[in-house]
Amino acid sequence: MVENKALYGGNEKLRLNLKRERDPATQVDPWQVLVVDDDPQVHDMTQVLLRDFQFQGRGFLPVSAYSAAEARDILERRDDIPVMLLDVVMETDHAGLSLAHYIRQDLRNHRLRIILRTGQPGEAPEREVMLDYDINDYRSKTELTAQKLFTALVGALRSWVDITTIEKLNATLETRVAERTRELAEAQAFSARLVELLPNPVWVKDLAGHYRLYNKSFREFFGIDETTWLGHSAEEVLGRHLPAEELDSDCRVLDGSSRREEFETQIPDCRGQPRTLLVTKAALPADGVVPNGIIGLAVDISDRKGLERELRRLATTDALTGAPNRRHFTSVAHQEMERALRYDLPLATIMLDVDHFKKVNDTWGHSIGDEVLKAVTDSMLAQLREVDVLGRMGGEEFAVLLPQTGLDGARQLAERLRQAVADIRLPMAEGVLRTSISLGVACRGDGDTHFDHLLGRADRAMYRAKDSGRDRVEIDAG
Ligand code: GH3
Ligand code: MG
Ligand code: MG
Repeated sequence: MVENKALYGGNEKLRLNLKRERDPATQVDPWQVLVVDDDPQVHDMTQVLLRDFQFQGRGFLPVSAYSAAEARDILERRDDIPVMLLDVVMETDHAGLSLAHYIRQDLRNHRLRIILRTGQPGEAPEREVMLDYDINDYRSKTELTAQKLFTALVGALRSWVDITTIEKLNATLETRVAERTRELAEAQAFSARLVELLPNPVWVKDLAGHYRLYNKSFREFFGIDETTWLGHSAEEVLGRHLPAEELDSDCRVLDGSSRREEFETQIPDCRGQPRTLLVTKAALPADGVVPNGIIGLAVDISDRKGLERELRRLATTDALTGAPNRRHFTSVAHQEMERALRYDLPLATIMLDVDHFKKVNDTWGHSIGDEVLKAVTDSMLAQLREVDVLGRMGGEEFAVLLPQTGLDGARQLAERLRQAVADIRLPMAEGVLRTSISLGVACRGDGDTHFDHLLGRADRAMYRAKDSGRDRVEIDAG
């Protein structure tokens, strides 16, 4: 039960009518009908008629207003009344229509169903007025017999229920759209933040190859700000041609022939330092949809590459002399042997050993011995071609691999090596240190099916050189 004195002034009749009387049987609120008429008889009559009405299990309850002003007062505070029976002529000739205008225009209440009732049929409003004021029904008062009033009210209520339902749906929909929009905005802000904070350069290009987005790491790499490159292609901004792989990979992703591209490339950073980048690219928005752009991510692997190179170097070279170590030499020698066998190419090898090296150590000390080994290595390397491989086989023993070289060429080179080492002069505190090597040469012959055969023959030749006085070259002719 609701009674609001402030709301409805002191009007006893109105106050009585406004008691929301729940049907004790059904416990549901009755349909409220705002009756606006300056004729108390009309109110009485309407009240009597409404008493018998039922619609959707709910009775009817009149809310009475005796003037347009009173009705205004009520409607300013309430927008839950579904239907209004409205007299045209009240305090003024057009009080009813003015009220309708006020409801629609000022209160923006488009839900309330307005049924216009006039005393005389001649007072029927113009069609334009019905449309302009959004009047939903028009009846003359004499017309409003119980049956006709019921029909008019039920029609009005039905459309009120429809409008209310649609409005509720709209409101729910709007809330959901607003929620969804907020969620999307949050997700977008999250990914934008994530992209910005990534330690790797990330960028987005459109179909024309123009940058649409790039993150902090990208900006730092190229030394640019947020807008420098936006809307431009990489070629435009760098003022030079990019590696072919860069553009080709873009094309493959955009024409759908590749879902994901991954390649290594060299690009100078903002200080002009060449960096090795591992670049990954994929189409935007996602797989299976016609691409409208491309997203790229780069990992700077320069340091890793440098470490890999260093590890490889450490694993393949001898720390003292910098010459390839025995393992690396042997591995290359076996490959060259296979090649020589397959294509029947000449292949020669030289074994060599520093003469009386023990004496060097004993006389000058181990570290001077080391210097001699380095000097011997350097002087020999200076005599070799790019394809020749010098290996330190251990101690003061070395081997040289000479691809596509016959016996004559190998003998000449061995002699040059001997001479180069014999020419070494290491200045010492007391005088000059000189050294020499003994060399054995062998060239691949029919019996050599394995590199070790060849190396063994060169080794034997070297011992002959030792035996025949050192500082000389001996040949194993096969
Ligand atoms: P030969 O002319 O018969 O070859 O006599 P040699 O004294 O050179 O031969 P030997 O095999 O008796 O001695 C080689 C010496 O080389 C012994 C070893 O201590 C020394 N040596 C091996 N590796 C190194 C090295 O890395 N540094 C130095 N300083 N000495 C080394
Ligand atoms: Mg020796
Ligand atoms: Mg030796």
